[in-house]
Amino acid sequence: MSRDEMSALQGKRLHKVVDYVYHHTPFYRKKMQELGLLPSDIQTIEDITKLPFTTKQDLRDNYPFGLQAAPMSEIIRVHASTGTTGNPTIVGYTRKDIDIWSECMARCMTAYGVTSDDIVSVAYGYGLFTGGLGAHYGIENLGAAVVPTGTGNTEKHVRLIRDLGITGIACTPSYALYLAETMDKMGITKDQIHLRVGAFGAEPWTENMRKEIQERLGLKGFNLYGLSEIMGPCVSYECECQHGSHVNEDHFYPEIIDPATLERLPNGKQGELVFTTLTKEGMPVLRYRTRDLCSLMEGECACGRTNVRMTPIMGRSDDMLIIRGINVFPSQVESVVLSEPEFAPRYLLVVDRVNNLDTLEVQVEVRQEIFTEKMETLGAIDALEKKLANKLKSVLSISAKVKIKAPNTIERSQGKSKFVIDKRVLK
Ligand code: ADP
Ligand code: ZN
Repeated sequence: MSRDEMSALQGKRLHKVVDYVYHHTPFYRKKMQELGLLPSDIQTIEDITKLPFTTKQDLRDNYPFGLQAAPMSEIIRVHASTGTTGNPTIVGYTRKDIDIWSECMARCMTAYGVTSDDIVSVAYGYGLFTGGLGAHYGIENLGAAVVPTGTGNTEKHVRLIRDLGITGIACTPSYALYLAETMDKMGITKDQIHLRVGAFGAEPWTENMRKEIQERLGLKGFNLYGLSEIMGPCVSYECECQHGSHVNEDHFYPEIIDPATLERLPNGKQGELVFTTLTKEGMPVLRYRTRDLCSLMEGECACGRTNVRMTPIMGRSDDMLIIRGINVFPSQVESVVLSEPEFAPRYLLVVDRVNNLDTLEVQVEVRQEIFTEKMETLGAIDALEKKLANKLKSVLSISAKVKIKAPNTIERSQGKSKFVIDKRVLK
């Protein structure tokens, strides 16, 4: 599609979605009224800058279905995004949403070179997380055979890859490395398997990781980007040129803003990625602030696709960590630590990657009042560590190793305190 045709389509769809949320989502009607905006003020895609932003906090404040536009009778699936403080984000999908999602996902798989002759295993998590089912439906839609392995039982997965002649895999890049590790342990080499395509996403990864995965699994690895608030995996994808990820911009309109001033930035400038859903019915969102930092690339791609590309995610404008695919905010750890009377408000998160699996260690100081040299011998430290670890697990949904420290032993930094050490070298 030419750029002019695309802009015209986007403008038409934007008007429609704005009119729809104005009449179906009190949250947006109120926001628009505050700005003195009517749906008729939004006619072209350029008008989008008149519209209000939406944040993750807005979704949490309106938990669970406050931003839902379609009636429950039309919702056929519900997903929830993980690991946020307080309420998770709930997203409901209508049948049309699921159809569009699987079409967009099929486009990604097509760009990776997957055809109906392929057998693809999905090792993203199945469940509330959008990764598993999102990839699953797209692969089915394309007509390839999907093997819904999910995560866990990696040795069995490796055997299936070998025995079934699986040719494609969809999973996080760190899981792909873990798979390679497991193959090594089992004594299975890449010559014994037929993997040729990997759809990797849900977390940031680097060219070095790509090289290592490709080398060890003998496949070509492609980026897959998405987020549950917008749809799930399928928002953007790499083509064979692997020069930026093409955005499915007929459904998800991207903008880059300066996170400090909220001004829209021109293509090529790095800033915060913002998406407006142009066709979604269940939970449409206007100008959703992803907190992901990247830039948009202008110009036609050598593959022939004309849709805009985004550069790899360079980081986030908040302090969210992605550990084993789960979103973790240091503030969540803080609130757990502070809710226990034994601990001082002094903690350190150490994130690392051991054998290609993310690990989280939480170091925390006990309060001076309760600290005695004898604590160790009495087993009190062990008990405290266990108690905190259990509590963290229930809040974060991932296991953390807790290390209790004597008072005043966690290093104080000059100026801004450092609460996180991320040792996962993303070079
Ligand atoms: P959750 O359910 O944990 O919220 P999401 O899939 O919605 O899971 O998380 C979306 C976030 O994951 C994105 O905003 C981004 O930070 C990260 N992410 C997803 N795909 C990629 C990718 N290909 N590269 C870098 N980061 C990614
Ligand atoms: Zn391309």
